Amino acid sequence: MKKGILKKAIIITVIINVIIFLAVGAKITFEKSKEAIVKQIGQNFQIPKFPGAGGGFGIYNERKPTCADSSDYHGQLIYARPADSADRFLEVSPKLKKWLSEANGILNTEAERFKVTADLKMVCLGGEVKAENVVLPKARNFYDLSADTNQAVITDLMKLGYSDKKTKYIVWFDGDGNASGCGGSVCISQASKKGPDDKLSEDNIFNIGPDFALLFKIEDSKVSQFGTNADMLIPIAMLHEYAHTMGALQQSAPHSTKKEKPGVHCTDTQPIGQGGTDIMCKSDAKGEVFGNECPGMYPFRFDCNNDDYFNPKPEPGSYLATHWNLGSSLNRFIQFSE
Ligand SMILES: [Zn+2]
Repeated sequence: MKKGILKKAIIITVIINVIIFLAVGAKITFEKSKEAIVKQIGQNFQIPKFPGAGGGFGIYNERKPTCADSSDYHGQLIYARPADSADRFLEVSPKLKKWLSEANGILNTEAERFKVTADLKMVCLGGEVKAENVVLPKARNFYDLSADTNQAVITDLMKLGYSDKKTKYIVWFDGDGNASGCGGSVCISQASKKGPDDKLSEDNIFNIGPDFALLFKIEDSKVSQFGTNADMLIPIAMLHEYAHTMGALQQSAPHSTKKEKPGVHCTDTQPIGQGGTDIMCKSDAKGEVFGNECPGMYPFRFDCNNDDYFNPKPEPGSYLATHWNLGSSLNRFIQFSE
């Protein structure tokens, strides 16, 4: 009897030691690959070699968006496929929700610098962000080969009734963004355009829908351009385009790209592709000069120095205290709380 207990104790001890050994080994491997990723991002974000797809390694502080009342202003997630494409809704929609939570994490991490929380207000179903499964009326070639895929998709979505004034749509288009609007080359995302309007008031033109933040499927061509795990860029692209629809940023902002109107990007950090941190800093025109503020790799910044488009608590008299500010409680599409 005693011998049996001793035997059991030895076996259990051995098992526990093996588990500890494996766990420590896994942790070391995890830390090492994390280090490698950090280096990689620092060198060239456009070809990140992220392990796995759709997140991980704490690059994004994943946080679920908030569920808005149906009568309130909100964002709505859409999976849209051309009429002749296979339905990949079941495969893509969970990823969309994860990417959106990662995008929301970038936003909230920025807000937390001001001791507030900020969450995108979304349409939900059963307490979870809802994704719509939409079939577009035309074949894939029509959209992919269109002079402006972005506009072609938006036009058809609006015809299908996705044109609510209280809604900004975040659309994953299951096709290629081969659009003139993307400089004629491949692109991963694009937003509908309007404005400018930099006045700080509830009736700002950016404080209403319908608007569209479009994400294009990551095609082989894009994988070769952006790297095998190019979909790791999606949370950044998602928030970037959505921020455009909310009015980021205005040409009057201190660090806006001004060489080409309307100048909707910022210049205070290097573009993400060159190792910068501000997700809105990107060239509108060749020859734009970028600063080197807010260095580091991540957390990514949703307005480096909070002086151009997002500041929940701007200094009285400063630019964002007197102009349209995505961090203002006037913004109907973000939920703030102390
Ligand atoms: Zn942009």
